[in-house]
Amino acid sequence: MPRSRKARKKRTSSCPKGWLPAGASVPVRLTKRQEGYCRRAIGIARFCYNLAVATHRFCRTNRLRPPSWMDISKEFNAVKRTEYPFATEVASRVAEGAFMDFGKALANWSNRDLKARAPAFKRKKATGTGTFRAASGVDQLGYNGKRRIQLPGLGSVKLACTLPQGILYEARIKRENGRWMLSILCWKEPEPKPKPDHRRRGAVDTGINPLGTDSDGEVFPNPKAYYSQERKLRRWQRAQSRRRKGSRGWWEAQRKIDKCHRRIKGLRRNAIHQMTNTLTRKFKHLVIEDLNVAGMMQGPTPKAQADSAMGEIRRQLEYKCRWRYTSLIKAHRLFPSSKICHVCQHPNAKLKRERWWTCPKCGAGNERNHNAAVNLGRLTLPPGRGPMLRDGKALAGAPRAGETGPVERRTAQLTLWG
Ligand SMILES: [Zn+2]
Repeated sequence: MPRSRKARKKRTSSCPKGWLPAGASVPVRLTKRQEGYCRRAIGIARFCYNLAVATHRFCRTNRLRPPSWMDISKEFNAVKRTEYPFATEVASRVAEGAFMDFGKALANWSNRDLKARAPAFKRKKATGTGTFRAASGVDQLGYNGKRRIQLPGLGSVKLACTLPQGILYEARIKRENGRWMLSILCWKEPEPKPKPDHRRRGAVDTGINPLGTDSDGEVFPNPKAYYSQERKLRRWQRAQSRRRKGSRGWWEAQRKIDKCHRRIKGLRRNAIHQMTNTLTRKFKHLVIEDLNVAGMMQGPTPKAQADSAMGEIRRQLEYKCRWRYTSLIKAHRLFPSSKICHVCQHPNAKLKRERWWTCPKCGAGNERNHNAAVNLGRLTLPPGRGPMLRDGKALAGAPRAGETGPVERRTAQLTLWG
């Protein structure tokens, strides 16, 4: 007991000023003993999480005040030796981490903006998929910058590659697509500020094919990760459904399915990281469309939409812009970026889904995505040089770096054309 109390005290060490949160997920190579420990820990974490969900639901149905995750954790610790002796097989922070996760899930549920669902029971899966908190707190993680990390309860764990540089403060072990992964959170030292900053203004038009086109005309291809694996995945999933659960053939199919999922994830992740890295390094001010990602999932091509991971692109741009001193400007989602000719500002209301079109006014040949990106990029220009309103008047007030409000408000007025 005194050891964990001491650890809790030191855990208050917080993020140094100006440092930014970062994270990474790397494969780990576990020994037989470590693997056994992790499997037990995943089971215990799931049990504790479900215990908390059950307690919460019971209180709500009986109109009692539900306890906080900390109360549940305390109560659990008081009775675990007699009631749940199996929980003592792993470090106590495994159970505590599960209760913390439950607390986070509750907080997300009560936050309207996140649109999260109520915490639900976690299911035990045949493949052993799951996660647990291996360490939370700077003092619990021993890492020397090489390919080994010291984790409480596990000892020295071998990593497939080195971890990001920074102060590590949380580690989680997860079983995902048939592989053991270490997911790490850290605080990252700020990157040196470019001085003077010669980077330009620019914009990116995101879509399905290609994934993105920036205002320089650079095209980021979409690997179409899911489509590339869909047939193989479907074949093995069907094969698995015909086999007896847990049999050798069933596991063979499971390994193939896991491999497909890993490939999909890898392809998609690589393409998106490359694109967001290039954009945030290239531009000082970056304009993106504030797309209604959830709404687009209701559209005609939800599978292709999901495959191009629009929400993830935006999430990465948001944090990478913070890393690299780039101001991210979100244009209003109804701003007709595709319909304006980027040469003469003529609004072409007749435009449908054509990839190439010729401006009826100035005769310029426009490529749909590049044209849209250039128009978006002009939103950062001072008045008189940016997009015009229908009556020919210049937009009032240029957006300043880092400001999103004015552009969103002003571009809303640009939706006058059908
Ligand atoms: Zn034109």
